[in-house]
Amino acid sequence: MKLAFFSTKPYEKHFFEKINVKYNHQITFFDAHLNMETISLVKGFQAVCVFVNDTLDEQILEKMAENNVKLIVLRSAGFNNVDIKAAHKLGLSVVRVPAYSPYAVAEHSLALIMTLNRKIHKAYNRIRDDNFSLDGLMGFDIHTKTVGIFGTGKIGQTFAKIMSGFGCRLIAFDLFEDKECLDLGVEYVSCNELFATSDIISLHCPLNHETHHLINKKTLSMMKKGVMLINTSRGGLIDTPEIINSLKDGKIGYLGLDVYEEEADIFFEDLSGKVLQDDVLARLLTFQNVIVTSHQAFFTDNAMNKIAETSLDNISKFEQNIPVNLVLPEKD
Ligand code: NAD
Repeated sequence: MKLAFFSTKPYEKHFFEKINVKYNHQITFFDAHLNMETISLVKGFQAVCVFVNDTLDEQILEKMAENNVKLIVLRSAGFNNVDIKAAHKLGLSVVRVPAYSPYAVAEHSLALIMTLNRKIHKAYNRIRDDNFSLDGLMGFDIHTKTVGIFGTGKIGQTFAKIMSGFGCRLIAFDLFEDKECLDLGVEYVSCNELFATSDIISLHCPLNHETHHLINKKTLSMMKKGVMLINTSRGGLIDTPEIINSLKDGKIGYLGLDVYEEEADIFFEDLSGKVLQDDVLARLLTFQNVIVTSHQAFFTDNAMNKIAETSLDNISKFEQNIPVNLVLPEKD
């Protein structure tokens, strides 16, 4: 199938080219994001491959349908950037990579926790300056602390398994209880109890209309003073200006973010020669107890292989009329 591949980065091109030897799709790689300025590039392609910061709203989808695109290939698990209802109405099929490596994301959540707690970022810089003092580097034992997991799907469950090794109390909130989490000793509690009793909160649910700004003024007010909050899911789960207020008054003691609500034109880009224009992100980056990574939690060799393999296989299965990994609209 002829595939237009948007938002291409050199590291993903390598994986897709290597694995496509087996599938033989005709891929054209574009560096550009898919938007109204670049939509004309889809002409002549039956399939379009996009990543997390390409926004496929109704207008873009209509243009795709007009140009006879049949298939949208998300090389991601999350699909909050696509208007699935509109795609369905326009006869566009959407496929995704539902699971590529829950370990990649769960392990990155742990990396953020350990770095924030033991202040590895500060120690690294300090020692390179020949400053071997320990002042200000004190951490805490994770053992016996209460860790709240919001969402116990594939990544949340993997995270629970990792954290159980620390000997901490694991509590969780999800719409459904997960058997493996229960077997592990995870206690399911109400959403409010999770916020009120956790020492560390890690978010592992999708972004949708129910979870948008899940972390807001009200939920922040329920939390323990000095709580650690980790978000490797989607930026829109957090009301960022409110989190800045909570960092200023000490309510949030540590913040680890791999995602940011306004990341679309910032993350994945080298902006080092420019002035950062996003004042909210710029303020976040001034706090010593905040670590921001640039949506890199998924980024392991294992995950990249799986993303390329599943995406290309999704296209072949669609061509054979046995579509897999379809994203369907929620029933009203
Ligand atoms: P999943 O579908 O396996 O699990 C999501 C869980 O969230 C499910 O158990 C679901 O029941 C629960 N959930 C849904 N709505 C909820 C609500 N309103 N309240 C409480 N729980 C709710 O997904 P996953 O593979 O574990 O991925 C989780 C999220 O991680 C994805 O949605 C994606 O946004 C994010 N993600 C981030 C990266 C990254 O690189 N940072 C990579 C992959 C996935």
